[in-house]
Amino acid sequence: MALVTLKEILKIHDGAVGAFSVYDQFSAQGIVAGAEEAGLPVILMIGSGPLNKPGNDYIGQLMVQFAKEASVPVCVFLDHSKDLKTCLKAMKLGFSAVMIDGSHLPLEENIAITNKVTEAARALGVSVEAELGALAGVEDGEEVKQAKMTDPAHVEEFLSKTDVDGLAVSIGNAHGLYKGEPKLDFDRLQTIAGIAKDVPLILHGGTGLTLEQFAKGVQLGIKKINIGTEVKKTYIETFISTHEKNVSAYDMVEIPQACKRAVAQMVKDKLEFFAKGWKELI
Ligand SMILES: [Zn+2]
Repeated sequence: MALVTLKEILKIHDGAVGAFSVYDQFSAQGIVAGAEEAGLPVILMIGSGPLNKPGNDYIGQLMVQFAKEASVPVCVFLDHSKDLKTCLKAMKLGFSAVMIDGSHLPLEENIAITNKVTEAARALGVSVEAELGALAGVEDGEEVKQAKMTDPAHVEEFLSKTDVDGLAVSIGNAHGLYKGEPKLDFDRLQTIAGIAKDVPLILHGGTGLTLEQFAKGVQLGIKKINIGTEVKKTYIETFISTHEKNVSAYDMVEIPQACKRAVAQMVKDKLEFFAKGWKELI
């Protein structure tokens, strides 16, 4: 029974906790295996797009089951929901945290929808993450062309009118693969952290950032780092290379196992760096 909330998991150690995207049984098992090998907490997340595909409720159910059976604390998290309905669906499936992403809305409307989700979540002991400022890039097939950095002036108002367990910020980070060298605005992050105080800050778009950038971010108050694209990249590249070793076998037994092991190794390395390794680069 190791299913824990976002609020609880972000207090376990003084580094950041990795949140990794799940797409199927094998990616979920790989993420949990990597966390168990590292002996560190992990966040299993699924986007609202994939969760809402026909027949995909079972993936959410599997995530909750794997979390309960894991030997390390696991938070089961709904990523980037733009509506209350999907948040309620995730809560019904047994998720321990949801993200309501009203970052595309005017501030007042973002506050209103965040409060609506928080009210429902509180009744069930579920944690809530919100977002201020939008990230560029493609998230589950939906493209945002123009990034909008988080305005520190909005942070104070947003946090005073809501009660969230984590706040995702936009400081130059992006979803998908970065076009060119990613540049993060650490001055902005530091200002936001000073305003947010005890509210943990979240960094989305972790794939492609350098170890130095992760370390600096964690030092300045990032408590959760989202990794989606690297899970897909690791899985699919392993799938193709394993298949190519013996094409005529169409080995549906061993290929997914190889994908699972590759995801586990990637997750283990990331979790160890986010929890402890970052301190060596400061
Ligand atoms: Zn994101």
